[in-house]
Amino acid sequence: MLEKLAIFLINHLGERRLIGIDITLGIGTIISIIGWLQNLFRNGTFFFGIGVILVLSSILITKVIFFYKDSRCDKCGKDFAIFENQPGKRRDVESNGVIYRREEHFFECSYCGDKTTSKNIERFEKQR
Ligand SMILES: [Zn+2]
Repeated sequence: MLEKLAIFLINHLGERRLIGIDITLGIGTIISIIGWLQNLFRNGTFFFGIGVILVLSSILITKVIFFYKDSRCDKCGKDFAIFENQPGKRRDVESNGVIYRREEHFFECSYCGDKTTSKNIERFEKQR
């Protein structure tokens, strides 16, 4: 769903215009929130509604932009090329009451076959 939307928006608008729209939505959100808080306008509920719509659209477009950036291959530069080629791995290592959760994800470019790995380590205090 997000992938289809991202491909559609990038193809029709391009990355730069999409970022522009995102910024505009962000500014619109701030203006409508200020308008709503300050009671500048007689119809507060209306601006609250507009604000909610703007926030949601801006979150969606931000997701699309991040998805697009993540899906571009660093090596060959092709868009929507990167896919996860095997299930991610998760491993918990415990030491001195602290759990280190190590997550690895494996990606491959569908054009040039370039492989990348993303690693992420999270730290948890052990529940007593
Ligand atoms: Zn590639």
